[in-house]
Amino acid sequence: MENNPVRINQFSRKARITWGICLNTVAALLLAGAIWVPFIFESQTLRYQLGVARSMLLTGHIMGTAAGFLLFVQMILVSRSRFLDRVFAINRLLLFHRIAAIIILFMAVAHLLLILNTLGSQILLFEFSQWPEYTGLILLVMIAGIVFSGLFRGMIGIKYQFWISLHRVFTPLAILLLCIHLFFVSNTFHYEGAYILGLSFFTACLFAYFLLRLIKLTLFRAAFRVDKIKEAGKDIHTLELMPEKDHGIVYAPGQFAFLKIRSSVISREEHPFTISSSPTRQPALQFTIKDSGDWTNRVKEIKAGERAFIHGPFGIFGHIDFDSIDELIMIAGGIGITPMLSILRYLHDIKSGRKITLLWSNRTRKEVVYADELNDMAKNNPKLSIKYLFTREEGQNKSPVRLNRDGLELLLTGCSRESIIILCGPPAMMTQVRKGLILIGFRASSIIEERFSL
Ligand SMILES: Cc1cc2nc3c(=O)[nH]c(=O)nc-3n(C[C@H](O)[C@H](O)[C@H](O)COP(=O)(O)OP(=O)(O)OC[C@H]3O[C@@H](n4cnc5c(N)ncnc54)[C@H](O)[C@@H]3O)c2cc1C
Repeated sequence: MENNPVRINQFSRKARITWGICLNTVAALLLAGAIWVPFIFESQTLRYQLGVARSMLLTGHIMGTAAGFLLFVQMILVSRSRFLDRVFAINRLLLFHRIAAIIILFMAVAHLLLILNTLGSQILLFEFSQWPEYTGLILLVMIAGIVFSGLFRGMIGIKYQFWISLHRVFTPLAILLLCIHLFFVSNTFHYEGAYILGLSFFTACLFAYFLLRLIKLTLFRAAFRVDKIKEAGKDIHTLELMPEKDHGIVYAPGQFAFLKIRSSVISREEHPFTISSSPTRQPALQFTIKDSGDWTNRVKEIKAGERAFIHGPFGIFGHIDFDSIDELIMIAGGIGITPMLSILRYLHDIKSGRKITLLWSNRTRKEVVYADELNDMAKNNPKLSIKYLFTREEGQNKSPVRLNRDGLELLLTGCSRESIIILCGPPAMMTQVRKGLILIGFRASSIIEERFSL
């Protein structure tokens, strides 16, 4: 068992599983409760239906309430709650948020179709009194717009920042429309007490949304100053920050944070980056950033002394969970080295006795960052082996092997199949490596991955 000398605010694997089961059970019970609403508070429209028509209408109502419930859960998923991050990891919560959005859209469409099929003749009168029904339709169009623009953003050429800003405006609007639709469209909630309870719940949700998104994201950030900005490799820069107060932030090696710079040369957008420094080297914080778009291309223009705001740390990627495992394999592609840098620095500083193998694939030598530091670590630690691979070099400099099944078999000769593998790089490379590792006998459950997309 390794001794972790720094305070690391993470749950153990066991605690995460226990909390995960508890929270999923609560969510499942709440969903079951929501689905039960049309049975408990039976709507007038349902009372006069018989046979198939009744079942369809009831299913339509169930679909509607379940979609409404999930829409509220979405607010919790994007709340960046530290507690939920420690249990599930923010990356997974956001992945579930995207999947849930698609499920909500399907349920909302099913809700509309099932109700139209039964009550179409009454609903399609286009009278002013039907405004609550049309509010629901506007909400459905809005949800469809968010889902499709999110799915095909790259294809349509919508910039991420523009899309996310619109999404943030539409979210409270969607919740408002849902409240109006739910309370005025049917007589489900026209019971004294239920109405007040429901309205209080919606108000609390909206309040929580604004509190979390607006207040927390603006006030509860750690303030830093840019100390240095250095070129680390081809199109890669390192940003070193020092806290404005005397203490930095508590983080585990491998975690990431949202970074915002107050500068005249770069926009105030918030971007996620892995912390490439080690928590053993407090209070400085380092990010190693590759030019890959509008914002990152301008990082080199940031000036020392400018203010930076950190929201985080987040994520559960890293080796900390696997204290008892003696052998670590790290596989990085390009800028995917940043979490490995933090972990390697940390393990070096705490004088870990683990056997570590790092495979790092880059297109060319120019993309390698901190080669001297890494090579020094390997020179002083016989248990650390670093293998560089170059896929686009010419002649002898090009690596004879790639990170496929055969290449991995060769590169990992002598590595225990019980090792933990930490993997980060471009999505296609990660898929290929994962497949290769499983084919040569590593367990899928031993492969820990980090994707640089939320
Ligand atoms: C957990 C995590 C850790 C990361 N660590 C590093 C790192 O250590 N070093 C590094 O160079 N890069 C890292 N990245 C990638 C980095 O966040 C993106 O390259 C950067 O945000 C791109 O911004 P841009 O405006 O320059 O490029 P754009 O061309 O505008 O964006 C490229 C893509 O990056 C994503 N993106 C852009 N802005 C944001 C945002 N504000 N929030 C979330 N996603 C966004 C979108 O999917 C977008 O399509 C990490 C990403 C994640 C999710």
